Amino acid sequence: MDFTLSDEQKMIFEYGRNLAADFGRDYWVKCAEQARFPTEMYRKVAADGFVGVMVPEAYGGAGLGMTEMALFNESLAEQGMPLLSLVVGATMGLSLIASFGTEAQKKQYLPPACAGETRFCFAITEPDAGTNSMRIATIAKPQADGTFRLNGTKVYITDAGESDYMVLVTRTTPLAEVKRKTDGFTLFIGPTKAKGIEMHPIPVGVKIPETQYQIFFDNVELTRDQVLGEVDRGFDILFHTLNPERILVGAICAGLGRHVLTRAVDYANERTVFKGPIGAYQALQHPLARAKTDIELAALMTYKAAWLFDRGEQCGPESNMAKLAGSEACIRATDAALQCFGGNGFTKEYGIFDLFGVARLMRTIPFNNEMIHNYIAEHVMGLPRSY
Ligand SMILES: Cc1cc2nc3c(=O)[nH]c(=O)nc-3n(C[C@H](O)[C@H](O)[C@H](O)COP(=O)(O)OP(=O)(O)OC[C@H]3O[C@@H](n4cnc5c(N)ncnc54)[C@H](O)[C@@H]3O)c2cc1C
Repeated sequence: MDFTLSDEQKMIFEYGRNLAADFGRDYWVKCAEQARFPTEMYRKVAADGFVGVMVPEAYGGAGLGMTEMALFNESLAEQGMPLLSLVVGATMGLSLIASFGTEAQKKQYLPPACAGETRFCFAITEPDAGTNSMRIATIAKPQADGTFRLNGTKVYITDAGESDYMVLVTRTTPLAEVKRKTDGFTLFIGPTKAKGIEMHPIPVGVKIPETQYQIFFDNVELTRDQVLGEVDRGFDILFHTLNPERILVGAICAGLGRHVLTRAVDYANERTVFKGPIGAYQALQHPLARAKTDIELAALMTYKAAWLFDRGEQCGPESNMAKLAGSEACIRATDAALQCFGGNGFTKEYGIFDLFGVARLMRTIPFNNEMIHNYIAEHVMGLPRSY
């Protein structure tokens, strides 16, 4: 067993830290408050080669793996500046194209996206399907001339309004007509701006820079060369996004947890209301110590999941546990930190309560923790399916 990071991996972690320092947390907070995408920071990340961390060098990426992408996300979050767009666009979108796109698709879409000239979002969630993706009803109906007609609705699609393309999960055969419920899915690389597409921002209470959108598709034309993978076999591909999204949530939560704990410790060592600093009280110390332990345990499981992924090994159990452990630990860490800050924790100036919202979001997205528990109970432990 070797827990040592390579020099390159250390450099990537350091890069995230320096990038965050260069822009400053105030920049991220301002973007979040104004619901403005942090374009300048994203462009810098792209220019430095970090949007395409997992994209092969031949298509403009860095040709690295899940571990490096996780370390980069963890280091940004450790500075209190997580970017969801690096999860949904740079990882889920671009990696799928790199792994399953045709040569022509890889050449067309990947180099400009890695360079930050274009952005991708990832659209699966629907109002009437929610957690149960099998029920998605957005349909791309095959036409006699080989094209498809797309109709349906997606919700909560991060950064859709500002992205250029979306990796779009549709059905080409409705659920009622398939033998296995996983049949009939088709993924497309669709434009975000085309005739028949209407988008509306969904204001959310959580302070993050990326905006979420509801998208309506009304007879949008899609062509066969926009199909990612095979028609009606999209679920096989979709499966490959599940572990990366969970590993990255584990990484973001580990980083964010450390961020709030470090700030809480600094504050608790300074603030005196009775005799000594409030940090001397065990009532504050113990929740912080417990949260620190849980955060580091979650980080370890995240590294293990990423390491397995990079070796091409099965990593479903570890990825799900990393997401569960990371998100729950991050909630406990922000809650413990909030308590240390007293009234100041709730102010805009200190921003701890805002980060509590971000941490809490991670219990629900991209796959709620109830379903993660279900996965572990059923697939890891052999208990009966509950739903
Ligand atoms: C800020 C934000 C960003 C997002 N970004 C994206 C994105 O980029 N792309 C995208 O496609 N989607 C995105 N989503 C959607 C997100 O993935 C979904 O909201 C999430 O998967 C839950 O789906 P739902 O909201 O329909 O909840 P529902 O499916 O209605 O579930 C509600 C609750 O019911 C419980 N539940 C449901 N099923 C079970 C079960 N079988 N067992 C036990 N409990 C259960 C869970 O507690 C769940 O939280 C985003 C959402 C938010 C809020």
